[in-house]
Amino acid sequence: MTPRASNTLPLAEASKLWSLYGFTSPKELILEDLAMAMNIFVVDARLDSAAARLVRKGDYGLIRVSDRLRFSGQRRFAIAHEIGHFVMHRKVSQLLACTDSDMRASYRSSPYEIEASIFAGALLMPRELFQSRIVRTVPTTDVIKDLASEFDTSLTATALRYVETSKDYCAFVVSENNRIRWWRASDSFAKHNLWLDSKNTLPRHSAAAAFFVEGEAPKEPIQVDLKDWFGEMNDIDSDYVIEQAIPLTEFNQVVSLIWLPC
Ligand SMILES: [Zn+2]
Repeated sequence: MTPRASNTLPLAEASKLWSLYGFTSPKELILEDLAMAMNIFVVDARLDSAAARLVRKGDYGLIRVSDRLRFSGQRRFAIAHEIGHFVMHRKVSQLLACTDSDMRASYRSSPYEIEASIFAGALLMPRELFQSRIVRTVPTTDVIKDLASEFDTSLTATALRYVETSKDYCAFVVSENNRIRWWRASDSFAKHNLWLDSKNTLPRHSAAAAFFVEGEAPKEPIQVDLKDWFGEMNDIDSDYVIEQAIPLTEFNQVVSLIWLPC
């Protein structure tokens, strides 16, 4: 039977590395140096379908990162993901090839891929440090971009981390071709029977749908009826939500950040 993904193991392992190497800020987290200190060598290489690969021989590892990962945030996430496999999955495989979709902590992935991606998010954006930056904020484009710049992470990974670590009611939805691809809600929000069907068409009046239908999403956050996004099965006490759409034009995707009005 396939084991379930652990949430605590990757968080503990990522946190252990911050303590062990005495990192205090994201600027000190140079992944190639960290990898080298762990006997892992990182190279950029041409890979056919994988985003990154890890080969292990005993206590040594080689990470190959695809040279098509053009953005620093994407590349760092891929390296951190492979370090996660190296640390946690010694007995699973000596050779792992991870695709773009493995790099997401999606519930459809194998438990090992989920664990490696949780590890990567936690290594790049440690909870306490990240939480200290999001207190009294709402996830507007400017806030997510500033965080992504500070932590040197992709907008998608940063927006996801915002929702994962937020104590407020908020959700994160990635859409593609006017359909929901995957989503997450903050712990407090998820408790209210919140549900979205992946693959469903985006709500007609959502900011994300405007990008796919009209070619441009509103730059500022907009109000959307709560039931347009989340139907009527939830028990959230609000008529509407605020949605900030962040188009990722190079991937033809939109990240929506959704929160409740104050
Ligand atoms: Zn992987």
